[in-house]
Amino acid sequence: MSPTVPAPLNLVGGSWVQAGEPVVDVVDPATGEVVTRIPDTDGAGVDAAVAAAREALADWRTTTPFHRATLLHRLADGVREHRDELVGLVTLEMGKPLREAGNEVDKLADAFDYYAEEAVRVHGETIPNEQHGVTSIVRYEPVGVVGAITPWNYPLELIGWKLAAALAAGCTIVVKPSEYTPSSAVALMALLQPAGFPDGVANLVLGAGVAGRALASHPGLDKLAFTGSTATGAAISRSVAKAMPLSMELGGSCPQVVTASADVDEAVAGCLRRGFRNAGQICIAINRVYVHRSVHREFVEKLTAGVEALTVGPGSKDPDVGPVTNAGIRDRCVAHVQQAVADGARVTTGGAVIDRPGTWFAPTVVDEVPPTTLLAQEETFGPVVGVTPYDTTEEAVALANGTTAGLAAYLYARDLTEVFEIGHALDFGNVAVNNPDAGIMNAPYGGRKGSGHGYEHGREGLFGYLHIKHLRVRY
Ligand code: NAD
Repeated sequence: MSPTVPAPLNLVGGSWVQAGEPVVDVVDPATGEVVTRIPDTDGAGVDAAVAAAREALADWRTTTPFHRATLLHRLADGVREHRDELVGLVTLEMGKPLREAGNEVDKLADAFDYYAEEAVRVHGETIPNEQHGVTSIVRYEPVGVVGAITPWNYPLELIGWKLAAALAAGCTIVVKPSEYTPSSAVALMALLQPAGFPDGVANLVLGAGVAGRALASHPGLDKLAFTGSTATGAAISRSVAKAMPLSMELGGSCPQVVTASADVDEAVAGCLRRGFRNAGQICIAINRVYVHRSVHREFVEKLTAGVEALTVGPGSKDPDVGPVTNAGIRDRCVAHVQQAVADGARVTTGGAVIDRPGTWFAPTVVDEVPPTTLLAQEETFGPVVGVTPYDTTEEAVALANGTTAGLAAYLYARDLTEVFEIGHALDFGNVAVNNPDAGIMNAPYGGRKGSGHGYEHGREGLFGYLHIKHLRVRY
């Protein structure tokens, strides 16, 4: 059954408001049909949301952490109660299989519970300087009004991490979700009032580039939390209105290194999960694999067989791989594969657009990928994995580190020397060894180099929404 699509309204100071003419089509990627149309909120609409967040801040920042924790736990409960509705909207607009959408909604609820618990553990410290008759007190204070701009690939979780940490810290927030996936964001924000959050503490503005630019460059913000492409992140960094904390969670293009000592079956299973889950549309997706020549052939054969066994279909039928979310992703898959083949690589399975309504690309393995190609250098962000054999450890590390990406890397090796030598040499914020999960809620998660800066998850995710104050008291 199709989910009920909520009206495309902004949430400003506790009221649902129409932000302008609907100008952006939101499309079901499995069918190509228009799901809803949303406005692209203009400067005045964004001003109103930021003003509402500012007005709510004075009271919210002085609430006790215990109170904020209670409301966040209630929000987690609300998410669980509305699980089916949220899952349906994510699959409808983003295209992912129902069980992956279910996994996302479950982890969203966990994020609210996690930061509810962290909220009450924000301790400062006292540094005695008795000989001088002064005491130094280090305390944490909410940064203030936060702007949050998010992409479509995890349309709820990527809002949820920011919302949870900001609200736990005592900040207020204005969220601008992706124009491809607005409805699940509307449904999530509708759960705030019933959970007891005061009006204006969390606000929503719908739209695309107009709304995004107006929010990112708004002088009324005290922090901007952005997740999206490296190109948009760079544009935003140039356009912010003033010096303020920025967190930038940007593009991936993640490598997997499979050494001679690896358990090849485990490495293939990891690549299937982290290369093709969410149709490869994950910032920490495996995009490029470097395999030691002694196990290269075995790896490629097993990976190809594994990819051919994946079921492909509309997310609502719960296959292994759904459509890609938009035509831009589909076209990038085509370009990356075609260029790699022109440069001498070989497609072992897939490699083409699937001809059906909506936006589809077949799960694809490309072997013998030259390191200079787009597939090996850039983020494909689709169900495509490129494989390149290597001979020496130094070569593997140089290939893995040889792009602008620094978000996540995967290492499969049983030899402990290889684990530590290569694990330490990989220039990435997250390195998963012999497992495909580079990001979990209670450990810090963030990128380096072109993949951005700042952390989400873990205590570090909360501290991104807190200023440190050193209070030096003479007595
Ligand atoms: P995108 O950069 O196109 O859009 C992201 C958001 O920015 C959207 O809400 C969009 O409307 C808004 N936006 C667009 N132009 C803007 C502008 N000039 N000013 C302000 N806002 C603007 O990215 P996308 O296609 O939605 O998402 C895919 C990208 O996100 C991939 O590169 C992926 O790796 C990255 N991503 C990173 C992480 C991470 O944690 N590092 C997580 C998920 C996705």
